[in-house]
Amino acid sequence: MASPPRSPRPSPATLCAQALGEVDPQTRALVPPLHAATTFERDADGEYRSGRAYTRPHNPTYDAPARLLAQLEGGRDCLLFASGMAASTAVFQALLPGDHVVAPRVMYWALRAWLNGFASDWGLDVEFVDTTDLDALAAAMRPGRTRLLWLETPSNPMWDVTDIAAASAIAHRAHARVAVDSTVATPVLTRPLALGADLVVHSATKYLNGHSDVLAGALVCAAEDGYWQRVRAWHRDAGAVLGPFEAWLLLRGMRTLFVRVERCSASALALARHFAGHPQLEVLYPGLAGHPGHVVAAAQMQGGFGGMLSLRHRAGEAAAMATAAGVRVFKRATSLGGVESLIEHRASIEGPSTPVPRDLLRLSIGLESLDDLIADLEQALARPAPEAAAPAATDPSSVATASPATLGERAAVLVSERIRPAVLDRGGDLEYAGCDGQRLTLRVHGSPGAVLPLRQGIESLLRHYLPELQGVDFTATEAPTAPVDPAAGLAARVRHVLAEHVNPVVAAHGGRIDLARIEGDAVYVRLEGRCQGCAMAEVTLRQGVEALLRQHLPDLGAVLDATDHAAGSDPYFRTRKGT
Ligand code: PLP
Repeated sequence: MASPPRSPRPSPATLCAQALGEVDPQTRALVPPLHAATTFERDADGEYRSGRAYTRPHNPTYDAPARLLAQLEGGRDCLLFASGMAASTAVFQALLPGDHVVAPRVMYWALRAWLNGFASDWGLDVEFVDTTDLDALAAAMRPGRTRLLWLETPSNPMWDVTDIAAASAIAHRAHARVAVDSTVATPVLTRPLALGADLVVHSATKYLNGHSDVLAGALVCAAEDGYWQRVRAWHRDAGAVLGPFEAWLLLRGMRTLFVRVERCSASALALARHFAGHPQLEVLYPGLAGHPGHVVAAAQMQGGFGGMLSLRHRAGEAAAMATAAGVRVFKRATSLGGVESLIEHRASIEGPSTPVPRDLLRLSIGLESLDDLIADLEQALARPAPEAAAPAATDPSSVATASPATLGERAAVLVSERIRPAVLDRGGDLEYAGCDGQRLTLRVHGSPGAVLPLRQGIESLLRHYLPELQGVDFTATEAPTAPVDPAAGLAARVRHVLAEHVNPVVAAHGGRIDLARIEGDAVYVRLEGRCQGCAMAEVTLRQGVEALLRQHLPDLGAVLDATDHAAGSDPYFRTRKGT
């Protein structure tokens, strides 16, 4: 007997519209129920045959949105997080200190700041490159050491487009994983796993939910390997999970994902084309033939180029601000991917460390009438522009590109205006000490733990603004120091390094580091004076003192803390410290 014809596999648009097409088996409801329960009953024999014990890993409301997203992305598994940042940082926190990771120069700013701060302090070796330049990307890979390539495409807020397939091939040759932040593209327009990526990340706060009323993140994997188990463990144990109501709202929002993204993309393209020849504007949108990422975007994105674009006002920052001030239909707000159109002056959201041009307005195109949106921008642009202000001396883009100053002069400005404040914040200090050809020397003062962990971030920032830079050297002291006597015993050599290289800088903090004892090749040091009571004590020890000792004594085993932080002259753990 002939078997009945197989029903065709539903398309992604159908899966979305019907929230996987499932009907609640108990009630026949077409909308899945919301489970508020935080805990689930155990069987009489103590087993959990339902497979659910506690909400953090097991809330049933997570199941449908997670399975739908895994199917849309063509992945094996999906985890929902409390935010896009929680999903993104989980990818890095499943790595190990010492791992080298490569990330784009143009990317979502809060993650860039987290990589430069927490991730670098924690020990990841983060390198920022232009991921649209495949030669630069290949050169950045360190086979065996690079564990992750992070991509964002199109990327905030210049909408740079990275070729996911080519970049993944480069990373895989170096045995590195590839994670793609596909928030702006959405699974409607791009499927990174099909192009070779290993992980896809979404701020589900944006298009996936689509109504500016849920904060959520999602991570989808191509393989449930050991690394994914570490991500799962981090998600479960650190607890950056979604609330059930947010998960329920997210599924509801995803039902209209396809129509929203298609409409936003069509409107964004029409708006970009309308303003492309405008005398006051430069339009950044990957759907325009003149955009540097257009060819790759046309091949990699299916059915549109997304709803995000930026406008650079040729009359500068004040005119851009005045345009944003003059809108009536657009809302002046950050975020993206909602039903309402948003406009924002991006540099002022990102703060003083931003590389974003100050004349740039970021637009998220929503579902309003296209004619209303175009007319709104036309009237805002037609308002009389204020006097254009000269770029501030601290504007990093003007320092890096417009100024005719020498490399050393530009570096000195960047160091004093942009880098030194962060170092001072951590209790250290740093100054520009000179430039030899295309190498810079920076002199550091204060606690080595305050400055040394920032080395990678400082170098990345300088390379970003000074592309011709070949390298950065850090010197801790001005006076030449006596070399270590290789014939001396370990204790004598440790004392020598502490006296010559460590304590002169620690003294600036009112502290001192002493050798407590040596056991085998393990060196126990004691923090004295103010270092003993310093909140940075562990960082000072691990990333400052230990780094300097190892630099001079490569045969060293462990460096361990013998300080009694709770009972010394200035104890770290004294209650009501400072009173
Ligand atoms: N990735 C991109 C591209 C974003 O635009 C954002 C937020 O704006 C995030 C990640 C972070 O997401 P969330 O705000 O949900 O933490």
